[in-house]
Amino acid sequence: MDLKLTELNLEVQRIANEFSQKTLKPLAREMDRKKNFPRELVSEMGKLGLLSGVLPKRYGGKDFDYVSTALAYEEVGTVCSSTRGFMTVQIGLVAMCISDWANEEQKQKYLPKLASGEQIGCYCLTEPEAGSDVAGMKSFAKKTENGFVLNGTKHWITNGNLADIALIFTYTDKEAKHKGMTAFLVETNSKGFNRKKMEGEELGHRASDHAFIEFKNMEVPESCVLGKVGDGFKIAMGALEHGRIGVASGAVGILRGCLEASRDFVRNRKQFNSRIGDFQMIQANLAEMKVSYEAARLLTFSAALKKQAGENSSLETSMAKYFATESAMKAASDAVLIHGGRGYSDEFPVERFYRDIKGLQIYEGTSHIQRIIIGRKVVGKP
Ligand SMILES: Cc1cc2nc3c(=O)[nH]c(=O)nc-3n(C[C@H](O)[C@H](O)[C@H](O)COP(=O)(O)OP(=O)(O)OC[C@H]3O[C@@H](n4cnc5c(N)ncnc54)[C@H](O)[C@@H]3O)c2cc1C
Repeated sequence: MDLKLTELNLEVQRIANEFSQKTLKPLAREMDRKKNFPRELVSEMGKLGLLSGVLPKRYGGKDFDYVSTALAYEEVGTVCSSTRGFMTVQIGLVAMCISDWANEEQKQKYLPKLASGEQIGCYCLTEPEAGSDVAGMKSFAKKTENGFVLNGTKHWITNGNLADIALIFTYTDKEAKHKGMTAFLVETNSKGFNRKKMEGEELGHRASDHAFIEFKNMEVPESCVLGKVGDGFKIAMGALEHGRIGVASGAVGILRGCLEASRDFVRNRKQFNSRIGDFQMIQANLAEMKVSYEAARLLTFSAALKKQAGENSSLETSMAKYFATESAMKAASDAVLIHGGRGYSDEFPVERFYRDIKGLQIYEGTSHIQRIIIGRKVVGKP
């Protein structure tokens, strides 16, 4: 594995770092407190190319590669997981999925607007009765003469209330199980597409938008099908492979955020006539964070390089997501402890990192599910 960052990698990292430190950092705590995701951020990220993923220029992209995209997620994740989560859905779950599966007309119609931030996308897979077990979904699209009629509900849909387009997964043939699912690319102003905010106060990602969506006799033309009828499961899993690199990189960002905040804190805070950073127990915590950060980053780059080479990266992506989110969970817990009482309020960002990281362990396949994927690959079970 060649780990030397290229000129392109360094340039994308620089752009993302400048955006994160200068624009996002001063806003992140207020966004979390007000539970608000400013629309202007989307346009700004679009202008900077931070929503382009690996899209080529002919579809409004910047010809970035997977490592550059991972670096952009890391920089943003260091400051605000709600914004990094927005990016991962917009790029990984929606734009890259359209890029992999859509026909030319759909690509021309949607990709440039997603890359520029003119349009927002959401990915509608999870249902109240179907989370980890996607096959448990109840949503159904009935074939009609001109297209399909969709009925069903989805929940926890990130960007769902903001989105202009929705990638929706339903059964079209329940008997065929995984081979009976179909993906639809639908405009959210379609009649029968109803949405509202998720009920309840959320632990983290408080600036993110999460929606409950209902399709009620929603008529869509045949041209809304993404890929082919029956390809839905493959398409949903392919999108998650893109998205999980984004989540792993976001967790790497949280690891770095915890490490940097804790380092700065322990250099200044004095107890027992000494900087707390001079105590070996505190140094041990920081050493663990540093090793976890470097290891999680290498696993994430390894997944990104595999994807860049056009190879199946489901094992590497799951390993990166699993390790990065689990170690960031531990780092965030330690970072709050290291800050003592101050870590318990949002005076310091570690409090928000501690709440946000739990979401990364859950969405796009929980840590249990990642271990199932990895374990099956190890023993050779399909
Ligand atoms: C902040 C946030 C954003 C999200 N954004 C989106 C989005 O944009 N689009 C979308 O479609 N969904 C989204 N989700 C939903 C998310 O993907 C699901 O919550 C997740 O897949 C888990 O499903 P579930 O909540 O139904 O839990 P369940 O599947 O019911 O799982 C409950 C528990 O059982 C465990 N479990 C389940 N099956 C097994 C098994 N076979 N072996 C061992 N343990 C198992 C799980 O790991 C978990 O611990 C989001 C969720 C959150 C919290």
